Amino acid sequence: MGKENLLATQAVRGLTPYQPGKPMDELERELGIDDIVKLASNENPMGSGPAASAAAREALSQLGRYPDGNGFSLKKALADRLGVAQDQLTLGNGSNDILELITRAYVTTEHEIVFSQHAFAVYPLVTQAVGAKAVVVPAKDFGHDLGEMAASITNKSRMVFIANPNNPTGTWVDATALRKFMESTPEHVIIVVDEAYFDYVSEPTYPNCLAYLDEFPNLVVTRTFSKAYGLAALRVGFSVSHPQVADFMNRVRQPFNVNAVALAAAAAALADTDHLQQSVRMNAVGMETLTRAFSDLGLPFIPSVGNFVCVEVGDAAGEVYQRMLAQGVIVRPVANYGLPRHLRMTIGTESENQRCIAALKSALVD
Ligand SMILES: *Cc1c(COP(=O)(O)O)cnc(C)c1O
Repeated sequence: MGKENLLATQAVRGLTPYQPGKPMDELERELGIDDIVKLASNENPMGSGPAASAAAREALSQLGRYPDGNGFSLKKALADRLGVAQDQLTLGNGSNDILELITRAYVTTEHEIVFSQHAFAVYPLVTQAVGAKAVVVPAKDFGHDLGEMAASITNKSRMVFIANPNNPTGTWVDATALRKFMESTPEHVIIVVDEAYFDYVSEPTYPNCLAYLDEFPNLVVTRTFSKAYGLAALRVGFSVSHPQVADFMNRVRQPFNVNAVALAAAAAALADTDHLQQSVRMNAVGMETLTRAFSDLGLPFIPSVGNFVCVEVGDAAGEVYQRMLAQGVIVRPVANYGLPRHLRMTIGTESENQRCIAALKSALVD
């Protein structure tokens, strides 16, 4: 290894890059077939809606211009929809960008960040990138153990990440438990509640954390257009927080972190409630189809309120994944999340789900 490699900060040298789901093009090249089913990245199987696609196309006629660096139109649309003030909003290049902005704004090498075992992979990444200490709290029934997480908070804690629901497990915390957690959390700790899958959840006791913002100025709620809104390619996410927190995040973000096509498409997607509702409905039906198939196959799964589900296929999960790949179906191994016996499958269209079930069945035999 060359000496120049050692010039990177110690924190960065210790990083393992995020592993995305296998791209469809890559498998197409490998197998020489073109009817690949990708259920590996929790994308909306219906894709973007017609209004968002039209807005994106229109924005393509203005490629010579910088985007609105303050995202005025999208912020106004979000503020109206969510019932928050515009100065509570921060826009990001995906909500991944938001997770990084908030960490860079508040956390140094002196601090600790608390999150759960099996939680979203970006939390350890952003923690390590700023050289902070990760405090990983063992999961309970695959989900966040908020009691233990609260007990893990110290004077050095500066942030806690709660994915609600969590990816890859699909587990969620209810309003009562979350409220209790927030009440017990000291004000020197920023509480980030990641609601990337908010729109899919219909459980009556699932909390909409925007309602808590007035009471908890240290709360940051993050959401995204990548999942239910079907705009993963464009990279748009946002947070809602106290205006002062938003102000600090705004200082560390790049001036034009969200591009013009993304801004236009996201505003249109927000207004297209039909597409959102159809997407959520398709997900509910598909979740039923997949989990019923798992039960028929005698495979345990982690009950999920997201657009994906983790099924326990056993010690040979890596092999099952490979055999499904060979049939053109891409799902997600989750050994890197501490779940070596599970595979995570995104809910697809009806025909994608059938392909997935057939591939899984034949991957389990022999
Ligand atoms: C997908 C996902 C995100 C963010 O995705 P972006 O495309 O960056 O908005 C954030 N949190 C969780 C838990 C996710 O699964």
